[in-house]
Amino acid sequence: MPRDLVLADYVEAERERIVGVLFEWLRIPSISADPDQSASVRKSAEFAADLLRGAGMEHAEVVETGGAPAVYAEWLHAGPSAPTALVYGHHDVQPVDPLHEWHRPPFEPALVDGECRARGAVDDKGQLVFQIEAARGLLQGQGSLPVNLKFLIEGEEEIGSPHFEELLHAERQRLHCDVVVVSDTTMWGPQVPSTCVGLRGLVAFDVTIRTAAGDLHSGSFGGSVPNSAHVVADLVSSLHDPDGLVTLPGFYDDVRPLTNAEQRSLQQLPFDEEEWKRKAGVQRLDGEAGRSTLERVWTRPTCEVVGITAGYGGEGMKTVVPGRANVKVTFRLVPDQDPQRVTEAFRSWLTASVPAGVTVEVEQVGAVAPALTDADHPCVRALCRSIERVWGRAPLLTREGGSGPEEALGRVLEAPVLYLGVGLPDDHYHAPNERMVMDQFWKGLLAAGEIWGEVARAHG
Ligand SMILES: [Zn+2]
Repeated sequence: MPRDLVLADYVEAERERIVGVLFEWLRIPSISADPDQSASVRKSAEFAADLLRGAGMEHAEVVETGGAPAVYAEWLHAGPSAPTALVYGHHDVQPVDPLHEWHRPPFEPALVDGECRARGAVDDKGQLVFQIEAARGLLQGQGSLPVNLKFLIEGEEEIGSPHFEELLHAERQRLHCDVVVVSDTTMWGPQVPSTCVGLRGLVAFDVTIRTAAGDLHSGSFGGSVPNSAHVVADLVSSLHDPDGLVTLPGFYDDVRPLTNAEQRSLQQLPFDEEEWKRKAGVQRLDGEAGRSTLERVWTRPTCEVVGITAGYGGEGMKTVVPGRANVKVTFRLVPDQDPQRVTEAFRSWLTASVPAGVTVEVEQVGAVAPALTDADHPCVRALCRSIERVWGRAPLLTREGGSGPEEALGRVLEAPVLYLGVGLPDDHYHAPNERMVMDQFWKGLLAAGEIWGEVARAHG
Protein backbone atom coordinates (compact mmCIF):
# COMPACT_ATOMS: atom_id res chain seq x y z
CA MET A 1 0.00 0.00 0.00
CA PRO A 2 1.52 3.40 -0.97
CA ARG A 3 2.40 5.33 2.21
CA ASP A 4 1.51 8.72 0.79
CA LEU A 5 -2.20 7.97 0.65
CA VAL A 6 -4.18 10.33 2.86
CA LEU A 7 -5.76 7.58 4.96
CA ALA A 8 -2.87 5.07 5.08
CA ASP A 9 -2.11 5.70 8.77
CA TYR A 10 -5.78 5.81 9.69
CA VAL A 11 -6.35 2.36 8.20
CA GLU A 12 -3.35 0.97 10.06
CA ALA A 13 -4.50 2.39 13.39
CA GLU A 14 -8.24 1.68 13.08
CA ARG A 15 -8.28 -1.65 11.26
CA GLU A 16 -9.73 -3.75 14.07
CA ARG A 17 -12.37 -1.25 15.13
CA ILE A 18 -13.54 -0.84 11.53
CA VAL A 19 -13.95 -4.59 11.09
CA GLY A 20 -15.91 -4.61 14.36
CA VAL A 21 -18.25 -1.91 13.04
CA LEU A 22 -18.80 -3.82 9.80
CA PHE A 23 -19.55 -7.04 11.69
CA GLU A 24 -22.03 -5.33 13.98
CA TRP A 25 -23.99 -3.97 11.01
CA LEU A 26 -23.85 -7.31 9.20
CA ARG A 27 -25.44 -9.03 12.21
CA ILE A 28 -28.68 -7.11 11.55
CA PRO A 29 -30.76 -9.19 9.09
CA SER A 30 -32.15 -6.26 7.10
CA ILE A 31 -33.95 -8.29 4.42
CA SER A 32 -36.29 -5.81 2.74
CA ALA A 33 -38.23 -8.53 0.89
CA ASP A 34 -39.25 -10.23 4.15
CA PRO A 35 -42.14 -8.52 6.02
CA ASP A 36 -41.06 -10.36 9.21
CA GLN A 37 -37.75 -8.48 9.11
CA SER A 38 -39.15 -4.96 8.85
CA ALA A 39 -37.99 -4.20 12.41
CA SER A 40 -34.49 -5.34 11.43
CA VAL A 41 -34.51 -3.09 8.37
CA ARG A 42 -35.41 -0.18 10.66
CA LYS A 43 -32.73 -1.17 13.15
CA SER A 44 -30.23 -1.26 10.28
CA ALA A 45 -31.26 2.27 9.24
CA GLU A 46 -30.79 3.48 12.82
CA PHE A 47 -27.42 1.77 12.96
CA ALA A 48 -26.35 3.57 9.77
CA ALA A 49 -27.52 6.93 11.13
CA ASP A 50 -25.48 6.33 14.32
CA LEU A 51 -22.46 5.34 12.27
CA LEU A 52 -22.68 8.54 10.21
CA ARG A 53 -23.14 10.64 13.36
CA GLY A 54 -20.13 8.96 14.95
CA ALA A 55 -18.09 9.70 11.82
CA GLY A 56 -18.70 13.42 12.27
CA MET A 57 -21.50 13.79 9.74
CA GLU A 58 -24.31 16.14 10.76
CA HIS A 59 -28.12 15.94 10.71
CA ALA A 60 -27.86 12.18 10.43
CA GLU A 61 -31.39 10.84 10.42
CA VAL A 62 -33.64 8.01 9.41
CA VAL A 63 -35.83 9.24 6.54
CA GLU A 64 -39.30 7.75 6.24
CA THR A 65 -40.57 6.67 2.82
CA GLY A 66 -43.73 4.91 1.72
CA GLY A 67 -41.87 1.69 2.57
CA ALA A 68 -38.63 0.83 4.38
CA PRO A 69 -36.67 3.78 5.81
CA ALA A 70 -33.68 5.43 4.16
CA VAL A 71 -30.87 7.33 5.91
CA TYR A 72 -29.51 10.79 5.28
CA ALA A 73 -26.53 12.72 6.69
CA GLU A 74 -24.47 15.70 5.60
CA TRP A 75 -21.33 17.70 6.28
CA LEU A 76 -21.53 21.09 4.58
CA HIS A 77 -18.61 23.15 5.83
CA ALA A 78 -16.23 22.95 2.86
CA GLY A 79 -17.14 26.47 1.83
CA PRO A 80 -19.51 27.90 -0.77
CA SER A 81 -17.13 27.43 -3.69
CA ALA A 82 -16.41 23.77 -2.92
CA PRO A 83 -18.38 21.14 -4.82
CA THR A 84 -21.00 18.99 -3.12
CA ALA A 85 -20.87 15.21 -3.47
CA LEU A 86 -23.55 12.67 -2.58
CA VAL A 87 -22.65 9.07 -1.71
CA TYR A 88 -25.37 6.53 -2.52
CA GLY A 89 -25.67 2.99 -1.20
CA HIS A 90 -28.29 0.74 0.40
CA HIS A 91 -28.59 -0.88 3.81
CA ASP A 92 -31.11 -3.60 2.95
CA VAL A 93 -29.98 -7.06 1.86
CA GLN A 94 -31.23 -9.97 -0.22
CA PRO A 95 -33.02 -12.97 1.33
CA VAL A 96 -30.72 -15.84 2.34
CA ASP A 97 -32.46 -18.96 1.05
CA PRO A 98 -31.43 -21.63 0.31
CA LEU A 99 -30.00 -21.49 3.83
CA HIS A 100 -28.43 -24.97 3.72
CA GLU A 101 -26.03 -23.85 0.97
CA TRP A 102 -24.30 -21.39 3.31
CA HIS A 103 -21.04 -22.62 4.84
CA ARG A 104 -21.77 -20.49 7.91
CA PRO A 105 -24.84 -18.66 9.21
CA PRO A 106 -25.41 -15.63 6.92
CA PHE A 107 -25.79 -13.13 9.77
CA GLU A 108 -22.78 -14.27 11.80
CA PRO A 109 -19.96 -12.51 9.96
CA ALA A 110 -16.45 -13.95 10.09
CA LEU A 111 -13.08 -13.32 8.49
CA VAL A 112 -12.02 -16.40 6.53
CA ASP A 113 -9.03 -16.44 4.16
CA GLY A 114 -8.92 -12.65 3.95
CA GLU A 115 -12.64 -12.48 3.17
CA CYS A 116 -15.53 -11.18 5.22
CA ARG A 117 -18.28 -13.78 4.85
CA ALA A 118 -21.86 -12.67 5.52
CA ARG A 119 -25.03 -11.54 3.76
CA GLY A 120 -24.52 -7.85 2.95
CA ALA A 121 -20.70 -8.01 3.14
CA VAL A 122 -20.28 -6.64 -0.37
CA ASP A 123 -23.90 -5.74 -1.24
CA ASP A 124 -23.90 -3.21 0.21
CA LYS A 125 -22.96 -2.63 3.86
CA GLY A 126 -19.24 -3.29 3.34
CA GLN A 127 -19.08 -0.73 0.55
CA LEU A 128 -20.87 1.84 2.72
CA VAL A 129 -18.62 1.18 5.71
CA PHE A 130 -15.53 2.04 3.69
CA GLN A 131 -17.18 5.26 2.49
CA ILE A 132 -18.33 6.28 5.98
CA GLU A 133 -15.00 5.35 7.56
CA ALA A 134 -13.13 7.36 4.92
CA ALA A 135 -15.19 10.42 5.85
CA ARG A 136 -14.52 9.71 9.52
CA GLY A 137 -10.77 9.36 8.88
CA LEU A 138 -10.59 12.61 6.94
CA LEU A 139 -12.64 14.55 9.50
CA GLN A 140 -10.59 13.10 12.33
CA GLY A 141 -7.22 13.75 10.69
CA GLN A 142 -7.86 17.09 9.01
CA GLY A 143 -10.90 18.46 10.80
CA SER A 144 -12.62 19.03 7.47
CA LEU A 145 -13.41 17.58 4.07
CA PRO A 146 -12.41 19.03 0.67
CA VAL A 147 -16.05 18.82 -0.48
CA ASN A 148 -19.47 19.21 1.04
CA LEU A 149 -20.53 15.64 1.56
CA LYS A 150 -23.96 14.01 1.76
CA PHE A 151 -24.95 10.38 2.25
CA LEU A 152 -28.17 8.79 1.03
CA ILE A 153 -28.61 5.18 2.10
CA GLU A 154 -31.67 3.44 0.69
CA GLY A 155 -33.60 0.64 2.42
CA GLU A 156 -35.45 -0.89 -0.56
CA GLU A 157 -32.84 -1.35 -3.26
CA GLU A 158 -33.11 -5.14 -3.20
CA ILE A 159 -36.85 -5.03 -3.92
CA GLY A 160 -36.54 -2.68 -6.89
CA SER A 161 -36.54 0.71 -5.14
CA PRO A 162 -40.35 1.19 -5.24
CA HIS A 163 -40.30 4.50 -3.32
CA PHE A 164 -36.91 5.81 -4.34
CA GLU A 165 -37.85 8.20 -7.11
CA GLU A 166 -40.59 9.64 -4.91
CA LEU A 167 -37.99 10.13 -2.17
CA LEU A 168 -35.58 11.84 -4.57
CA HIS A 169 -38.28 14.27 -5.66
CA ALA A 170 -39.46 14.96 -2.10
CA GLU A 171 -35.90 15.55 -0.84
CA ARG A 172 -34.55 17.16 -4.00
CA GLN A 173 -33.52 20.37 -2.22
CA ARG A 174 -31.64 18.61 0.53
CA LEU A 175 -30.00 16.13 -1.86
CA HIS A 176 -28.80 18.79 -4.29
CA CYS A 177 -25.24 17.98 -5.37
CA ASP A 178 -22.63 18.37 -8.12
CA VAL A 179 -21.73 14.71 -8.32
CA VAL A 180 -23.13 11.37 -7.12
CA VAL A 181 -20.77 8.56 -6.11
CA VAL A 182 -22.37 5.12 -6.01
CA SER A 183 -20.58 2.41 -4.05
CA ASP A 184 -22.56 -0.72 -4.92
CA THR A 185 -20.88 -2.22 -7.99
CA THR A 186 -18.04 -4.52 -8.93
CA MET A 187 -14.64 -4.28 -10.56
CA TRP A 188 -13.47 -6.52 -13.35
CA GLY A 189 -10.91 -8.22 -11.10
CA PRO A 190 -8.59 -7.53 -8.15
CA GLN A 191 -5.76 -6.80 -10.59
CA VAL A 192 -7.99 -5.14 -13.18
CA PRO A 193 -9.65 -2.16 -11.50
CA SER A 194 -12.58 -0.74 -13.41
CA THR A 195 -15.41 1.74 -13.07
CA CYS A 196 -18.86 1.63 -14.57
CA VAL A 197 -20.01 4.47 -16.80
CA GLY A 198 -23.39 3.29 -18.05
CA LEU A 199 -26.47 1.20 -17.45
CA ARG A 200 -29.04 0.01 -19.95
CA GLY A 201 -32.64 1.11 -19.74
CA LEU A 202 -35.74 -1.04 -20.14
CA VAL A 203 -39.23 -0.90 -21.62
CA ALA A 204 -41.63 -3.82 -21.33
CA PHE A 205 -44.91 -4.67 -23.07
CA ASP A 206 -47.73 -7.11 -22.76
CA VAL A 207 -49.27 -7.68 -26.19
CA THR A 208 -52.58 -9.45 -26.83
CA ILE A 209 -53.60 -10.60 -30.32
CA ARG A 210 -57.24 -11.46 -31.09
CA THR A 211 -58.21 -13.16 -34.32
CA ALA A 212 -61.69 -14.32 -33.24
CA ALA A 213 -64.18 -13.94 -30.41
CA GLY A 214 -63.04 -17.33 -29.09
CA ASP A 215 -61.36 -20.59 -30.10
CA LEU A 216 -62.92 -22.18 -33.21
CA HIS A 217 -63.32 -25.82 -34.26
CA SER A 218 -60.41 -26.59 -36.58
CA GLY A 219 -62.52 -29.00 -38.63
CA SER A 220 -65.33 -26.54 -39.24
CA PHE A 221 -63.25 -23.35 -39.55
CA GLY A 222 -59.60 -24.36 -39.98
CA GLY A 223 -58.13 -23.06 -43.24
CA SER A 224 -60.66 -20.26 -43.58
CA VAL A 225 -59.93 -17.99 -40.59
CA PRO A 226 -56.80 -16.35 -39.12
CA ASN A 227 -54.99 -18.28 -36.35
CA SER A 228 -53.76 -16.13 -33.44
CA ALA A 229 -50.83 -18.49 -32.74
CA HIS A 230 -49.62 -18.10 -36.33
CA VAL A 231 -50.00 -14.32 -36.14
CA VAL A 232 -47.97 -14.11 -32.93
CA ALA A 233 -45.28 -16.42 -34.35
CA ASP A 234 -44.99 -14.21 -37.45
CA LEU A 235 -44.69 -11.13 -35.25
CA VAL A 236 -41.98 -12.66 -33.09
CA SER A 237 -39.97 -13.90 -36.03
CA SER A 238 -40.04 -10.52 -37.72
CA LEU A 239 -38.73 -8.62 -34.66
CA HIS A 240 -35.14 -9.36 -35.77
CA ASP A 241 -33.50 -9.48 -39.19
CA PRO A 242 -31.04 -12.24 -40.19
CA ASP A 243 -28.14 -10.20 -38.72
CA GLY A 244 -29.83 -10.08 -35.32
CA LEU A 245 -30.79 -6.41 -35.63
CA VAL A 246 -34.11 -5.22 -34.23
CA THR A 247 -36.39 -4.30 -37.14
CA LEU A 248 -38.40 -1.44 -35.55
CA PRO A 249 -37.96 1.56 -37.87
CA GLY A 250 -35.58 4.10 -36.31
CA PHE A 251 -34.67 1.80 -33.39
CA TYR A 252 -30.93 2.54 -33.67
CA ASP A 253 -31.20 6.22 -34.64
CA ASP A 254 -30.47 7.55 -31.14
CA VAL A 255 -27.79 5.03 -30.13
CA ARG A 256 -24.75 7.05 -29.16
CA PRO A 257 -21.47 5.65 -30.54
CA LEU A 258 -18.83 4.63 -28.01
CA THR A 259 -16.06 7.09 -27.23
CA ASN A 260 -12.51 6.13 -28.11
CA ALA A 261 -11.74 5.61 -24.41
CA GLU A 262 -14.69 3.21 -24.06
CA GLN A 263 -13.72 1.38 -27.23
CA ARG A 264 -10.17 0.95 -25.94
CA SER A 265 -11.38 -0.25 -22.54
CA LEU A 266 -13.63 -2.85 -24.15
CA GLN A 267 -10.69 -4.23 -26.11
CA GLN A 268 -8.41 -4.31 -23.06
CA LEU A 269 -10.78 -6.19 -20.75
CA PRO A 270 -9.54 -9.78 -20.41
CA PHE A 271 -12.77 -11.49 -21.44
CA ASP A 272 -13.04 -15.30 -21.39
CA GLU A 273 -15.76 -16.34 -23.81
CA GLU A 274 -15.71 -20.04 -22.79
CA GLU A 275 -16.14 -19.07 -19.13
CA TRP A 276 -19.04 -16.82 -20.11
CA LYS A 277 -20.74 -19.69 -21.97
CA ARG A 278 -20.16 -22.01 -19.03
CA LYS A 279 -21.73 -19.50 -16.62
CA ALA A 280 -24.73 -19.07 -18.92
CA GLY A 281 -25.03 -22.82 -19.49
CA VAL A 282 -25.17 -22.36 -23.28
CA GLN A 283 -23.43 -24.12 -26.17
CA ARG A 284 -23.30 -21.10 -28.46
CA LEU A 285 -23.47 -17.32 -28.31
CA ASP A 286 -25.92 -15.33 -30.36
CA GLY A 287 -26.84 -11.74 -31.10
CA GLU A 288 -26.10 -8.81 -33.32
CA ALA A 289 -23.65 -9.75 -36.09
CA GLY A 290 -20.17 -8.24 -35.92
CA ARG A 291 -20.31 -7.33 -32.22
CA SER A 292 -18.37 -8.79 -29.33
CA THR A 293 -20.19 -10.28 -26.35
CA LEU A 294 -19.42 -7.33 -24.06
CA GLU A 295 -20.50 -4.89 -26.75
CA ARG A 296 -23.77 -6.82 -27.08
CA VAL A 297 -24.65 -6.86 -23.37
CA TRP A 298 -23.33 -3.45 -22.36
CA THR A 299 -23.53 -1.13 -25.32
CA ARG A 300 -26.22 -2.39 -27.70
CA PRO A 301 -30.00 -2.25 -27.38
CA THR A 302 -31.89 -5.52 -27.52
CA CYS A 303 -35.35 -6.97 -27.93
CA GLU A 304 -36.21 -10.14 -26.02
CA VAL A 305 -39.44 -12.08 -26.17
CA VAL A 306 -39.88 -13.23 -22.58
CA GLY A 307 -42.97 -15.36 -23.07
CA ILE A 308 -45.58 -16.50 -25.59
CA THR A 309 -48.98 -17.95 -24.77
CA ALA A 310 -51.35 -19.20 -27.45
CA GLY A 311 -53.89 -21.94 -27.95
CA TYR A 312 -53.97 -25.26 -26.17
CA GLY A 313 -50.93 -26.39 -24.12
CA GLY A 314 -52.56 -28.98 -21.84
CA GLU A 315 -52.64 -32.79 -21.84
CA GLY A 316 -53.27 -34.55 -25.13
CA MET A 317 -54.68 -32.70 -28.12
CA LYS A 318 -57.48 -30.32 -28.90
CA THR A 319 -58.72 -29.50 -32.38
CA VAL A 320 -59.04 -25.72 -32.30
CA VAL A 321 -58.00 -22.58 -34.10
CA PRO A 322 -56.97 -20.38 -31.15
CA GLY A 323 -58.65 -16.99 -31.16
CA ARG A 324 -56.32 -15.26 -28.71
CA ALA A 325 -52.55 -15.11 -28.19
CA ASN A 326 -50.24 -13.18 -25.90
CA VAL A 327 -46.61 -12.19 -26.13
CA LYS A 328 -44.49 -10.34 -23.57
CA VAL A 329 -41.63 -8.31 -24.98
CA THR A 330 -38.83 -6.30 -23.34
CA PHE A 331 -36.39 -3.92 -24.92
CA ARG A 332 -33.08 -3.10 -23.21
CA LEU A 333 -32.12 0.43 -24.19
CA VAL A 334 -28.81 2.25 -24.40
CA PRO A 335 -27.98 5.97 -24.43
CA ASP A 336 -29.53 8.08 -25.96
CA GLN A 337 -32.60 5.96 -26.71
CA ASP A 338 -35.78 7.37 -25.23
CA PRO A 339 -38.26 4.87 -23.69
CA GLN A 340 -41.16 6.99 -24.99
CA ARG A 341 -39.89 7.01 -28.57
CA VAL A 342 -39.25 3.27 -28.50
CA THR A 343 -42.75 2.72 -27.14
CA GLU A 344 -44.27 4.72 -29.98
CA ALA A 345 -42.11 2.90 -32.54
CA PHE A 346 -43.19 -0.49 -31.16
CA ARG A 347 -46.87 0.44 -31.20
CA SER A 348 -46.78 1.62 -34.81
CA TRP A 349 -44.72 -1.40 -35.83
CA LEU A 350 -47.34 -3.70 -34.29
CA THR A 351 -50.23 -1.91 -35.96
CA ALA A 352 -48.45 -2.10 -39.31
CA SER A 353 -47.45 -5.76 -38.82
CA VAL A 354 -50.74 -7.45 -37.94
CA PRO A 355 -53.10 -8.30 -40.81
CA ALA A 356 -56.30 -6.29 -41.23
CA GLY A 357 -59.13 -7.74 -39.16
CA VAL A 358 -56.80 -8.88 -36.37
CA THR A 359 -56.87 -6.76 -33.21
CA VAL A 360 -53.84 -6.00 -31.12
CA GLU A 361 -53.77 -4.53 -27.62
CA VAL A 362 -50.55 -3.27 -26.05
CA GLU A 363 -50.01 -2.60 -22.39
CA GLN A 364 -46.78 -0.97 -21.32
CA VAL A 365 -45.61 -2.46 -18.02
CA GLY A 366 -42.55 -0.39 -17.15
CA ALA A 367 -39.98 2.06 -18.43
CA VAL A 368 -36.50 2.95 -17.22
CA ALA A 369 -34.27 5.24 -19.23
CA PRO A 370 -30.67 4.25 -19.93
CA ALA A 371 -27.96 6.08 -18.00
CA LEU A 372 -24.53 7.14 -19.16
CA THR A 373 -21.84 9.15 -17.44
CA ASP A 374 -19.57 11.10 -19.76
CA ALA A 375 -16.22 9.30 -19.37
CA ASP A 376 -14.47 12.60 -20.09
CA HIS A 377 -16.21 14.41 -17.24
CA PRO A 378 -13.60 15.95 -14.89
CA CYS A 379 -15.17 14.05 -11.96
CA VAL A 380 -14.78 10.70 -13.75
CA ARG A 381 -11.13 11.54 -14.33
CA ALA A 382 -10.83 12.47 -10.65
CA LEU A 383 -12.30 9.08 -9.69
CA CYS A 384 -9.95 7.30 -12.10
CA ARG A 385 -6.91 9.06 -10.59
CA SER A 386 -8.01 8.01 -7.08
CA ILE A 387 -8.39 4.39 -8.15
CA GLU A 388 -5.08 4.40 -10.00
CA ARG A 389 -3.24 5.75 -6.97
CA VAL A 390 -4.52 2.89 -4.79
CA TRP A 391 -4.59 -0.05 -7.23
CA GLY A 392 -1.45 1.08 -9.08
CA ARG A 393 -3.28 0.85 -12.38
CA ALA A 394 -5.76 3.12 -14.17
CA PRO A 395 -9.30 1.67 -14.14
CA LEU A 396 -10.90 0.40 -17.33
CA LEU A 397 -14.36 1.65 -18.22
CA THR A 398 -17.20 -0.83 -18.04
CA ARG A 399 -20.97 -0.74 -18.34
CA GLU A 400 -23.73 -2.79 -16.81
CA GLY A 401 -26.33 -4.57 -18.92
CA GLY A 402 -29.02 -4.18 -16.26
CA SER A 403 -30.93 -1.18 -14.91
CA GLY A 404 -30.99 0.33 -11.40
CA PRO A 405 -31.85 3.33 -9.19
CA GLU A 406 -28.70 5.07 -10.46
CA GLU A 407 -30.61 6.31 -13.50
CA ALA A 408 -33.13 8.12 -11.27
CA LEU A 409 -30.31 9.59 -9.16
CA GLY A 410 -28.62 11.14 -12.17
CA ARG A 411 -31.86 12.31 -13.76
CA VAL A 412 -33.63 13.78 -10.72
CA LEU A 413 -30.53 15.30 -9.12
CA GLU A 414 -29.13 16.39 -12.50
CA ALA A 415 -25.63 15.32 -11.56
CA PRO A 416 -23.09 12.93 -13.09
CA VAL A 417 -23.12 9.49 -11.45
CA LEU A 418 -19.74 7.91 -10.65
CA TYR A 419 -19.13 4.35 -9.49
CA LEU A 420 -16.57 3.57 -6.82
CA GLY A 421 -17.42 -0.10 -6.34
CA VAL A 422 -14.94 -2.72 -5.15
CA GLY A 423 -17.00 -5.91 -5.38
CA LEU A 424 -15.59 -8.77 -7.48
CA PRO A 425 -17.42 -11.00 -9.96
CA ASP A 426 -17.08 -14.03 -7.62
CA ASP A 427 -18.45 -12.34 -4.50
CA HIS A 428 -21.74 -14.31 -4.66
CA TYR A 429 -24.02 -11.30 -4.93
CA HIS A 430 -27.60 -12.28 -4.00
CA ALA A 431 -26.43 -15.90 -3.47
CA PRO A 432 -25.33 -18.08 -0.56
CA ASN A 433 -21.83 -17.39 0.83
CA GLU A 434 -21.69 -13.72 -0.08
CA ARG A 435 -18.27 -12.27 0.70
CA MET A 436 -16.15 -9.14 0.63
CA VAL A 437 -12.48 -9.58 -0.18
CA MET A 438 -10.94 -7.45 2.56
CA ASP A 439 -8.02 -6.31 0.42
CA GLN A 440 -10.61 -4.73 -1.91
CA PHE A 441 -12.39 -3.24 1.11
CA TRP A 442 -9.26 -1.50 2.45
CA LYS A 443 -8.36 -0.29 -1.02
CA GLY A 444 -11.90 1.07 -1.36
CA LEU A 445 -11.46 2.96 1.90
CA LEU A 446 -8.15 4.43 0.73
CA ALA A 447 -9.64 5.40 -2.66
CA ALA A 448 -12.61 7.02 -0.87
CA GLY A 449 -9.99 9.00 1.07
CA GLU A 450 -8.44 10.24 -2.19
CA ILE A 451 -11.51 11.00 -4.24
CA TRP A 452 -12.87 14.10 -2.50
CA GLY A 453 -9.59 15.99 -2.81
CA GLU A 454 -9.48 15.01 -6.48
CA VAL A 455 -13.08 16.06 -7.07
CA ALA A 456 -12.43 19.42 -5.33
CA ARG A 457 -9.38 20.03 -7.53
CA ALA A 458 -11.28 19.02 -10.67
CA HIS A 459 -14.09 21.40 -9.70
CA GLY A 460 -11.82 24.32 -8.86
ZN1 LIG B 1 -26.57 -3.60 -4.06
